Amino acid sequence: MINIVLFGKPGAGKGTQAEFLKGKYNLTHLSTGDIFRFNIKNDTELGQLAKTFMDKGDLVPDEVTIQMLQSEVDKNPHSAGFLFDGFPRTIAQAEALDKFLESKEQNITATVALEADDEILVQRLLERGKTSGRPDDQDEEKIRNRYQEYNEKTAPLMQYYNAQGKFYAVNGIGSIEEVTERLSKVIDNL
Ligand code: AMP
Repeated sequence: MINIVLFGKPGAGKGTQAEFLKGKYNLTHLSTGDIFRFNIKNDTELGQLAKTFMDKGDLVPDEVTIQMLQSEVDKNPHSAGFLFDGFPRTIAQAEALDKFLESKEQNITATVALEADDEILVQRLLERGKTSGRPDDQDEEKIRNRYQEYNEKTAPLMQYYNAQGKFYAVNGIGSIEEVTERLSKVIDNL
């Protein structure tokens, strides 16, 4: 069983790459952003709560996010492994994930980051916002806020996983195929 955390700033290509990797390695893809958006679309209580944070580009509170993620993992008891996309995003989430997996006699195999320059990513997100319909992709101020959240709360996770000997990084700039190839090389060598 392998459990991979796909790591990277907003717009780095996590979702795109996850689509390829999940099939290649037979992993269950869990994107917390997608799950929140699904709940917003269906106007659930969770969706209404998440929306107030997401629309501003703020992170959704840990307690809510952790509980949601755990229940999604529990919905897939026969999974051959998970591809976590957009989770964890804070140290508290990473610690909760480690503890939760440990309780199932599992662990994170590796965290792989897609690296890219902020300015390229901001432009990418603004471009994506023209078609994605996502309010958090359409306003440069909200996008900049997402980067601030990333720098303050998510970036420290690199050190967290590095200390466990589980952090890898690949260049996220290139064609989709090139980046998939780089990620696959890391995963194949685990
Ligand atoms: P994403 O689709 O991964 O870019 O996530 C979109 C938005 O969903 C983020 O800006 C947050 O508001 C929220 N979100 C997604 N994942 C998390 C998480 N692990 N912790 C807190 N908020 C999250």
